[in-house]
Amino acid sequence: MYLEDKDGRRYLDFTSGIGVTSTGHCHPKVVQAIQRQAAELIHGQYTTVLHPRLIELTERLGAHLPAGLDSLFFANSGSEAIEAAVRLARHATGRANIVVFHGAFHGRTVGAASLTSSRPIYTAGLQPLMAGVVVAPFPYAYRYGWDEEQATAFCLRELDHLLASVVAADDVAAFIIEPLLGEGGYVPTSLAFLAGLRQRCDQHGILLIIDEVQTGVGRTGRFWGHEHARIRPDALVIAKGLASGMPLSALAAPAELMSKARPGSQGGTYGGNAVACAAALATLDVIAKEELVARSANLGDHLLVKLRQLTHGSEVIGDVRGLGLMVGVELADDNGALASAVQREAVARGLLLLTCGTHGQVIRWIPPLVVTEDELDMGVELFGEALDAAQAGSATKRSSVISRTA
Ligand code: PMP
Repeated sequence: MYLEDKDGRRYLDFTSGIGVTSTGHCHPKVVQAIQRQAAELIHGQYTTVLHPRLIELTERLGAHLPAGLDSLFFANSGSEAIEAAVRLARHATGRANIVVFHGAFHGRTVGAASLTSSRPIYTAGLQPLMAGVVVAPFPYAYRYGWDEEQATAFCLRELDHLLASVVAADDVAAFIIEPLLGEGGYVPTSLAFLAGLRQRCDQHGILLIIDEVQTGVGRTGRFWGHEHARIRPDALVIAKGLASGMPLSALAAPAELMSKARPGSQGGTYGGNAVACAAALATLDVIAKEELVARSANLGDHLLVKLRQLTHGSEVIGDVRGLGLMVGVELADDNGALASAVQREAVARGLLLLTCGTHGQVIRWIPPLVVTEDELDMGVELFGEALDAAQAGSATKRSSVISRTA
């Protein structure tokens, strides 16, 4: 749970390397698996030699996939797997257009950045982007000032209007959506909205691609974030929490769909690297043995309660929301200045937190899934102090995890 700086100060790490180190930093089982694999085979390019870890991981991860998604393609980063999903959708449907949702983050490579609308920094200076992307409204109830039902109804209506006015439904290859808007502000996607997307996909032959890069592998208190909505995805994009920090991503889809990718179009030198696959197998073991998915659900509920108690009645807190250990605290802060001051004050107290949202106005809580209740409580207490100090504009360090854990 801790990182140490060069002066030996310890920091409680609630960033998890942006949602990656779900088993904590250097979990002994993961370290052992990496060391063993490194001594046996580091790189076995998978179109040349099909190494055993890749086969084992395909089986093990396959056991967690939704019914019908029985084929996996491995790559290295989230962006790369998103690009693979777009390529597959275009090849399989023969249609060019992709509908994404406002505030989404799908990556930084040109194709993935073209699907991203959380902030303009990801696309500024990169134009022209990939053509054929249509951005539809996302039901961000707090931002609209509506309840979830109103926001959902509005966004589904607008989506239908888009399909009637901007792009014909039978020219759309796929909808791509995060089950919980990540970089865009940590907003759970309304379940009714996801159900509405599924219905429109079925009606028009559109593929529903779920970006589980940040929400997958237990993060939201279910193995997959979309499970909360009980919808059937046509493809899943997986990365971050899969391999405890080794670069590994995947695209999962039915074999019948996957076979429609043109031969040779999906591939790469490093995808499904043997050491990364060994780390992923050990990660899946730890997740099962330490019951990290249930832990994420229970501790996530605890964190929401604690944060709501702490911030109740505060004028600077706009919204506290989340699923499992993926929780956002939106500040009434239209330029992100308060959130970055809170972040700095938290660092001074030995707590690492990330921000997100278009203006950087949301404090995100994404601790490793091995976090204990005591560590969460300590984090909430330090956050409370950091919030007070940031509001007072003072840098006084009243208490710190540095001294507590020394
Ligand atoms: N999709 C989502 C939902 C993400 O959160 C991210 C990374 N933050 C990506 C895609 C891109 O992943 P990567 O940085 O590994 O390319």
